[in-house]
Amino acid sequence: MKERPSFPAKLNTGKHAATPKKLSTNVAAGFGLDSSTVRARMVQKLAQQGIEDARVLEAMGRIERHRFVDSALANQAYEDTSLPIGLGQTISKPNVVARMMTLLRQAPSIKNHSLGRVMEIGTGCGYQAALLSLLAQEVYSIERLRGLYNKARENLRPMRLPNVHVIFGDGMLGYPQGAPYSAIIAAAGGESIPQAWIDQLEIGGRIVAPMQDAVGKQALLVVDKTAQGLKQMLLEPVLFVPLKSGVA
Ligand code: SAH
Repeated sequence: MKERPSFPAKLNTGKHAATPKKLSTNVAAGFGLDSSTVRARMVQKLAQQGIEDARVLEAMGRIERHRFVDSALANQAYEDTSLPIGLGQTISKPNVVARMMTLLRQAPSIKNHSLGRVMEIGTGCGYQAALLSLLAQEVYSIERLRGLYNKARENLRPMRLPNVHVIFGDGMLGYPQGAPYSAIIAAAGGESIPQAWIDQLEIGGRIVAPMQDAVGKQALLVVDKTAQGLKQMLLEPVLFVPLKSGVA
């Protein structure tokens, strides 16, 4: 109830008067109109949580997260929570998605510019690929599970994002056809950065990926490829599904 005062007054009228925080689970019936307001509130929260990059916040305000999750979960789409997307996989919390994209944009060579060619490992339902399409020139997103690859393509098709390329394959091998990349972002956590990602990253480029330490705890890892070699920064703990090799 604490959030109520910041909720736009116009939502407190008409059929939503009694439950301004709850969204209808019936996505088909007019969810779209309300969702921009709920998204604006999510963006406001992200800003309060320390996400300061205006381009990232704008993208989070534009892409309709509820379209990427099962309709039964659509009422939770703008909560700061991870959600199941099928086949044992999850879509990350909006806060973590926003944080990772902010880190990509903070790469020394990218700062204040659009991202060039970006590779995403783990398309999942396609949500982050859609966000990246607003921040990058080209997005190459790879998914190893056929079922999710198909789902992501279905989710993305009506959005008509010509700069998003969804690829079925093992992202641990990267995607040389799209290389070199100015940024690589992984939505699944492994034990080390695959050599293919380093090889396919341009000098000045940055990788942001969840990585496991020796005792199996995950944290966000930032790797910058410079003319002098690789520079690594280990940041806050995170919880991602495992990076797996091969396709299924
Ligand atoms: N970015 C996604 C989140 C997906 S969850 C979204 O917005 O929905 C992580 C995904 O990584 C899962 O779908 C999993 O199948 C995929 N994955 C794990 N290892 C992979 C690999 N080696 N190559 C490609 N995808 C992989």
